[in-house]
Amino acid sequence: MSIWQHIANHISAETGTDFCPGEPHSLGGGCINTAVQLSDQDQCWFVKLNQAARLSMFEAEALGLRDLAGANAIRVPLPLCTGTAQGQSYIVMEYISLGAGSRSAAARAGEQLAQQHRQQAEAFGWQCDNTIGSTRQPNHWCPDWITFWREQRLGFQLAEAAGNGLGNHLQQLGEKLLQACPALLDHQPQPSLLHGDLWGGNLGYDEQGQPVIYDPATYYGDREAEIAMTELFGGFGADFYAAYNNAWPLDAGYATRKTLYNLYHILNHANMFGGGYVGQAQRMMEQLLGELRL
Ligand code: ADP
Repeated sequence: MSIWQHIANHISAETGTDFCPGEPHSLGGGCINTAVQLSDQDQCWFVKLNQAARLSMFEAEALGLRDLAGANAIRVPLPLCTGTAQGQSYIVMEYISLGAGSRSAAARAGEQLAQQHRQQAEAFGWQCDNTIGSTRQPNHWCPDWITFWREQRLGFQLAEAAGNGLGNHLQQLGEKLLQACPALLDHQPQPSLLHGDLWGGNLGYDEQGQPVIYDPATYYGDREAEIAMTELFGGFGADFYAAYNNAWPLDAGYATRKTLYNLYHILNHANMFGGGYVGQAQRMMEQLLGELRL
């Protein structure tokens, strides 16, 4: 049986319908996985494939999409099922036809993201580890944000970098920065429900102009870490930020913390791709230490 027949059978079983798709339609655009559209006359599904060993990544993605959907804030594709067949793992979710946004749609995204961030937990972390890009992202529950960020975000990526042989200088700066975390993160944030990987490539707009977010690395953390990432690769436009701040203003000191939060993603890129990201991470660390005069 082909993997497509296996997935079609799984969809039929989950939906209680007789799903008979035509040829899978390959979709471009994914960074990590193979994406296809699987449809018949009545149903249309979005399917991502990877190696069988990556099943837990898709299981965590499905849990993340469910949590985000539960916040009733920004629309997300609803996951249907995950599994493995023919040496591959897969996730099946609602197919949403995505198009360009508008200024008012971007403002709606900002307002709805603030609403999502009002969904909160008792501690920082999440129900399981997940994946950021192709790197493991640990999410053990922790009552203290500084400890969480130091150990499970910055410290984890620095340890990965050491394992990847990324330089003494980076490690020395990293050690100083880990010690400086209490001074940099003295604002006592609340554990907000985060998408976790919210760059421009993971936000779109449905046919009604409603914002849609997908491909999450969900956890409960400081909402500023989410806003910081939206600014990392190009920004979401003035209307988005005005609407977010109108709904829930950011705390003073965000500008400095933004660099610390985005350092996590730049270190992750350094770990995944090397090259110029290593130098970029070092410059960000020097800037942060300079602001503290360390
Ligand atoms: P990857 O995990 O490989 O990064 P994504 O989840 O980002 O893949 O999906 C790849 C692209 O497919 C996205 O950039 C988006 O354009 C589109 N896409 C994502 N989710 C859906 C969906 N549920 N329905 C339709 N298109 C989607």
